[in-house]
Amino acid sequence: MKVIIHGGFFSESHTDATTKLAKQEAMSAIAKASFEYLKEHTAMETVAYAVTLLEDDTLFNAGSGSQIQSDGKIRMSAALMDGTTQKMSGVINIEEVKNPIQVAVKLMTFDDRVLGGGGATNFARYNGFEAYSTETPQRRAEYEAKLESKGLGTVGCVALDAAGNIAVATSTGGKGFEIPGRISDSATVAGNYANEFCGVSCTGVGEDIVSNATAAKIVTRVTDGMPLKEAFAKTFEELKPYDGFCGAIAIDRNGNIYHQDSHPSMVFASCDGAGVEVFK
Ligand code: ASP
Repeated sequence: MKVIIHGGFFSESHTDATTKLAKQEAMSAIAKASFEYLKEHTAMETVAYAVTLLEDDTLFNAGSGSQIQSDGKIRMSAALMDGTTQKMSGVINIEEVKNPIQVAVKLMTFDDRVLGGGGATNFARYNGFEAYSTETPQRRAEYEAKLESKGLGTVGCVALDAAGNIAVATSTGGKGFEIPGRISDSATVAGNYANEFCGVSCTGVGEDIVSNATAAKIVTRVTDGMPLKEAFAKTFEELKPYDGFCGAIAIDRNGNIYHQDSHPSMVFASCDGAGVEVFK
């Protein structure tokens, strides 16, 4: 059993030492709690649990504390994927729900599993997700100050359970100040992908991650026999021609854990029972 989570990149508005430390402490606590949860639950249940905790922590740019878009509204995206069944479900640009990842969990049982915009929000309301504002005073102040904070604090989790199943979940408030309607990588196979061999969750600039098809590429390379570390190295090399901004976490079916970032400011934590490791 293994679990790894990420909390995106340290945003420019959050570079002070106190916030950095708070993020690292939160990562450590959530990695530990998620591993405890994994002892009694499946990988799928665990990634949804971990991402819900991360969405509820206003330090991160997902759920509560999401970035505000150029028109003053918050639109969030989240997805999860079961590596065993290879089913992916997600919401894109959903508004006013507390936990977008839980709406994605609900969608897992439907034939139409990725919903966007008003359709996603209507689906949530119809299925009992009450209207909830995820705006925080800090994000509003940043927005009012027209501070393009590049709050790259998307969250994600990959888990490998006792039965050998891999699952991945990712949730984001987006880049901040984006044009309404812009689509993040987080609920696409570029940002969130898993099969029985490997699971990957990404953060960074969605456009760069989609151009590189990062998560799907790493998983495909591992499936074709490339060691996890090499699959990361090759895929991250391919971001270089356009200075792609991306970070990713992964677990393969042998329990290898790996993470890499193109720009060194990402926050990750992993737990395998032997202890929690927080990487900076
Ligand atoms: N990948 C997200 C996006 O582009 C942002 C992030 O990772 O923080 O919407």
